[in-house]
Amino acid sequence: MSLDAGVTTVRDESHISNSPAHSDAAIAAHWESGIRAVFDHGWPSTNAEEWQFGSVHTHPDDIRRIRDEVLSDDSARVTLNAMLRGPELSTLHVAEQDIRLARDLGLRISMHVGLGEWGAQQQAVRQLADTGLLASDMTFIHLCTSTDDELRMVAAHGATASVAGALEAFMPGLGHPTTNRLLAAGIRPSLSVDTETIVSGDMFGVMRATLAYQQLVLAGAAGPMGRLPGLPTFDAADLLSFAAIEGARAAGIDDRTGSLTPGKDADLIMIRLDLPPAGDTRRRVHRGGRPRRQRRRRYGPQGGRRPQARRGGLRGGGGLPRPAVPRRRSAASGVSPPRQRGELVDDPLRGGPRPHRLSDQVRTWPRLTSTLAAACSWWERRGRPGAYCCGRA
Ligand SMILES: [Zn+2]
Repeated sequence: MSLDAGVTTVRDESHISNSPAHSDAAIAAHWESGIRAVFDHGWPSTNAEEWQFGSVHTHPDDIRRIRDEVLSDDSARVTLNAMLRGPELSTLHVAEQDIRLARDLGLRISMHVGLGEWGAQQQAVRQLADTGLLASDMTFIHLCTSTDDELRMVAAHGATASVAGALEAFMPGLGHPTTNRLLAAGIRPSLSVDTETIVSGDMFGVMRATLAYQQLVLAGAAGPMGRLPGLPTFDAADLLSFAAIEGARAAGIDDRTGSLTPGKDADLIMIRLDLPPAGDTRRRVHRGGRPRRQRRRRYGPQGGRRPQARRGGLRGGGGLPRPAVPRRRSAASGVSPPRQRGELVDDPLRGGPRPHRLSDQVRTWPRLTSTLAAACSWWERRGRPGAYCCGRA
């Protein structure tokens, strides 16, 4: 979904750390997808009551293994952050130990705070500031019911904030998107999706929802006008920077993405319309400003070959089960192996056998339609009309 929407980087607030295998599978999915990702290691979802709202469990120790053995390279395409519960979802004592663990491992920290009435009572940011734990390596998500004083504390300590504008507008009880209050406190926030079972993972949808909420309040249509008049507002250009560079800052990767700046990854497709089609697009891929042929995809932090399939259909690395891809079936209804180079196949265009070539599978649409039309008449000559062309039988 994110890739289809043009998103090139995902920060995965992953609180399904039910076991090391769960975390490894989530990380493997980021490698497999090809997207740039920050994996934010969180807590288990096996028992929400045990792990949230006053929990006395400290953060799962498996994060040490992941840091040491799986995501140790901070310049890799997939990197590691720590998603902590903080004093709002655990206790101040637990939060202190968790924060020290993350800092020992050199990891940036995120917390979801200011959640409804509970967040207003807890004032997590104030607790962190009072105990000297609030620092610039933290990103606070939501902050809906955090006080204006707390927002100023976030700004004063150089920490970052993220607004889940679409989710906060949809999910009752969380509180209002706090974008304008953050701007008033001197913070340009990033934007979050949060829960994809409630709102779309499309970042453009999140941007539209965040702006729509402001516009509704300005129009007096979204309830009391009490807070917004007098607060700074934002426009579409601001939203773009919230979604791009501010998100990169929050994830600690603004040195390589988030803006069009020399030296950063471009994450951009540019097509010259005054030239003929590029032909083999693989030869036209530029990476880091240089043409690059995609001979082999890199897998894992150190690159190298794709992990070999294991017995039982499990792939190495994250151990993700490989999806079963249906292959063409033979007349005997068995599953036949993929065609090999040099194998003879019937060619309807030639009216006879020819060597099979893998490159023949890539055809332009006009060529493909003419191939299908030829295939129809080929089948018709053999008394099997309609085998390829629906409606002609
Ligand atoms: Zn959240």
